[in-house]
Order: sequence, then structure tokens, then C-alpha cells
Amino acid sequence: MRWVIGLGSNLGSRRALLDAAVALLATRVGPVLGQSQIYETEPLGPAQPAYLNTAALLDTALEAHAVLSQCNQIEAALGRERRLRWGPRTVDLDLLWADGLALADDALTVPHPGLTARTFALDPLLELCPDARLPGGEPLRALRARLGPPLARFEGHDGPRQTALEAALAPDRTRRAVGVLRAQGPAFETAVERLREALGDARPARVAVIADTDAGLDVAALY
Ligand code: ADP
Ligand code: MG
Repeated sequence: MRWVIGLGSNLGSRRALLDAAVALLATRVGPVLGQSQIYETEPLGPAQPAYLNTAALLDTALEAHAVLSQCNQIEAALGRERRLRWGPRTVDLDLLWADGLALADDALTVPHPGLTARTFALDPLLELCPDARLPGGEPLRALRARLGPPLARFEGHDGPRQTALEAALAPDRTRRAVGVLRAQGPAFETAVERLREALGDARPARVAVIADTDAGLDVAALY
């Protein structure tokens, strides 16, 4: 089944974290058939930094709850702590939509309950699937037309930190960063171990994790 997963990040090196999450979706869930542009959007809820949002179209044989479980593991591996509802997060993965699928239970609602009101979810989705509809219902494009102005595209990087990240990777361009963790010392080691567990048997080649702290950047090779 084809899924559209929405991704958001508003902490740390947001762009690198989105790239990392998409890379992990490909190994853990299924082939990524497309990714939307990246948009910079204003947060909902408590005051917090701006988000980068994107969406990925995936083909997977996994059942819906298995997709959710993989998404939760990827969020955890990339450092998300669930402290505050709608609070800031390194990476948020939402199962936005799957063609013709409607389900609702305690763990999972599809289409995502926020989809119809959130331009930051609708715009990336419509880029990938312009003719998407609610199950048995209205085209999402028509619904989108009644919401606010177009989103701002994000074409930059995350400032000095992101540039430093690129510099840290420069000596070995064949190595791909899958994660940027704001931790150092034992906390970094623990986080790397959790990421290794999350990757499990996937074991992609040439993968690094970056420690991104006020003290600087550190690169640990995972595989
Ligand atoms: P939000 O994405 O609305 O900001 P969270 O990411 O904290 O909130 O999600 C809270 C819970 O929402 C998750 O534990 C998950 O079980 C549930 N959930 C229900 N439907 C979905 C969905 N379609 N995609 C992702 N999470 C969902
Ligand atoms: Mg979520």
C-alpha cells in the first residue's frame, strides 16, 4: 500500500534530521517513491521555533500499525522526547494518508485527524498526490483551496550549525549522516546505541551519527 508520511522538525539541525528520517523510512518501512519540497512553517501550540515540514510517499507491505511503530522508533532514534503535547521536537512523523484507507482506534487514526486543517501537512501531500481524496469524500485540493496562503519554501540551511555539520562530513563524503544528536559523552554513546538498535538488520553501509553540541561536532561511524 502507498502511504504519505508527513515529517516535521523544529529542533537541532532540522534539515539534516528530516533527511535522516527519510533515509530511515526507506530502510525500515519501504521504498520512498517521492519526497516533497521542504517548507518552513509557523508552529501551532506553545511558543517554539519554526518548523521545517516535508512529506514522503512510500510503498510498503507493512500493516498500518506496523508503519506507526516504525515511525515511533525512528522518532525515538532521532532524539524525540515526548514531553509536551504540540511542543518542540527533533522529528515528528505522522501517517497522513493512504489511498482509500480509513481507520480509527486508540493508537491510530487515518487519515491523520489534523490533515484537513493543516496546510503544512496538506501542501506537501498534494505535491506528491495532487488527486488525493478523503476516503469516499472530497478532493483534498478543494479543501486546501479554502485554507490560508501558500507555504514558504525552505531553501537554506540551518545557519552556522548546519554549515559546521557539512564541514564535519567533508573529509568523507561517501559517509551519509543519518542523525544529528544534541548530546555528548555517555548520552551520545547511549543515543548511538539506540539508533543502532532501531536500524536493526537494515545495517545501511557508510552511516555516521553526528553529536551536535555547544562544544562542537563529533562524528561516530555506525557501520
Ligand atoms: P501530533 O503529531 O498531533 O503533534 P504526536 O506526534 O505527539 O502528536 O502524536 C501523538 C499520538 O498520536 C501518537 O502516540 C499516535 O499513537 C497517535 N496517532 C494517531 N493517529 C496518528 C497518525 N495518523 N499518525 C501518527 N500518529 C498518530
Ligand atoms: Mg505526530
